[in-house]
Amino acid sequence: MSPLWSAADLEIATGGVFPRERFAAEGVAIDSRTLAAGDLFVALADVRDGHDFLADARERGAAGALVSRDEGVGAVLLVEDTQAALSRLGEFARARSQAKVAAVTGSVGKSTTKEMLRRILGASGTTHAAEASFNNHIGVPLTLARMPGDARFAVVEIGMNHPGEIAPLAAIARPHVAIVTTIAASHIGLMGSIEAIADEKAELLRGLVPGGTAILPRGPHLARLARRAPDGARLISFGTQDLAEARLIGAESDASGVDVTARILDRIVRCRLAAPGAHMAMNAVAALTGAVALGLDAEAAAAALDGFAPLAGRGVRRSVRIGTGRVTLLDESYNASGASIRAALDVLALQPGRRIVVLGDMLELGDFADDEHRDLAGPVAGVADHVFACGEKMRLMADELPVHCPHVWAPSAAELAPLVRDALRDGDVVLVKGSLGSRMRTIIATLESTV
Ligand code: ATP
Repeated sequence: MSPLWSAADLEIATGGVFPRERFAAEGVAIDSRTLAAGDLFVALADVRDGHDFLADARERGAAGALVSRDEGVGAVLLVEDTQAALSRLGEFARARSQAKVAAVTGSVGKSTTKEMLRRILGASGTTHAAEASFNNHIGVPLTLARMPGDARFAVVEIGMNHPGEIAPLAAIARPHVAIVTTIAASHIGLMGSIEAIADEKAELLRGLVPGGTAILPRGPHLARLARRAPDGARLISFGTQDLAEARLIGAESDASGVDVTARILDRIVRCRLAAPGAHMAMNAVAALTGAVALGLDAEAAAAALDGFAPLAGRGVRRSVRIGTGRVTLLDESYNASGASIRAALDVLALQPGRRIVVLGDMLELGDFADDEHRDLAGPVAGVADHVFACGEKMRLMADELPVHCPHVWAPSAAELAPLVRDALRDGDVVLVKGSLGSRMRTIIATLESTV
């Protein structure tokens, strides 16, 4: 079998030169710790300079390294700028591939929708999808550069936290199907307005191949999103509205999942997700529509999605032992925005038992942060029997809680964790949520280590 990257393709794609021996590569890595033997190691200048890890990469069996400085360590492909070269590898891999590509962006639900698509498409043919949330200027080209030659489908996730980020990534991905999951106030700090967020997400549409399909949420921003679609693109809106071409007809949630009924264009389909909530059902409609736009049968797609479970830190429900009792933990420690906290509260409301809400700050909200936090007090009080909050911004939310909603505040997750643990009783259900930087994992770890 021919290698993933022949020496000739590496040369053509990057415009680089081999100062010593030429090499081919079976994979691509940017972190020497996760490199597999035979990989091309790309020395990026990110948090640390990748050139510092050339010897390590070589020891772990790298086929060679993509460098902008030849330090004489092993086989190298020398380029001017390794980040630009990685982008070109992604572009080249995309251009040579026969795979049908779906790209997913949106304020919330990108990774979930991407994983749903991976599952649906994977049931029909070899599917290559972004690992974790590989959705930025490194993750997107890296995902494409790793795409195997026999991939029938590829799913990439495209994110942003500042203006101008999506367009170059969309141009590399060149999707057949572009999905915008949601438009909400995540990362609004650097974007300035919800309209600016919609405009930025819509940049994904500009990357569509001729005749590609844009799948867009029906709502106040639909027209704004749609106007960025290239001529000849097919537009499909999804939502609960009658006018949506892909319509969520029913989302019956219980504590452990949601029964979804949807009309995807002209077909009615049903499936059950092992992840409760109307938001999950809506992501499913977007993913099913994406699959149908790529040529899959709607019913087969729904059957493949059946049983889909939430991703780590995004609503995983598990039972943990606390002293002599047990509590149900809803682990939402991966991230938080106003939209996703409201969605998680809806899921919490479905659970039996005393409802404990543990929230840490939502980050990257800039001037909008105070209001976004304060606005959560009503929804939180509507569901919670007891509230624990940490961080300066969640203090604003806690201060707005009505007197009948008991609450405790601490400066950090580390200080809050023992207070939560000590307050729990057998049969409680605990939602733990906050932006990754708020370190709500600390609270999960404390609860899980309590026996
Ligand atoms: P990030 O950009 O942080 O990687 P994302 O856009 O990839 O986020 P997910 O990782 O899928 O989104 O989900 C993040 C959070 O949002 C989770 O708490 C998840 O349950 C919630 N969520 C997922 N989809 C939706 C949705 N459609 N509406 C509201 N919340 C959602």
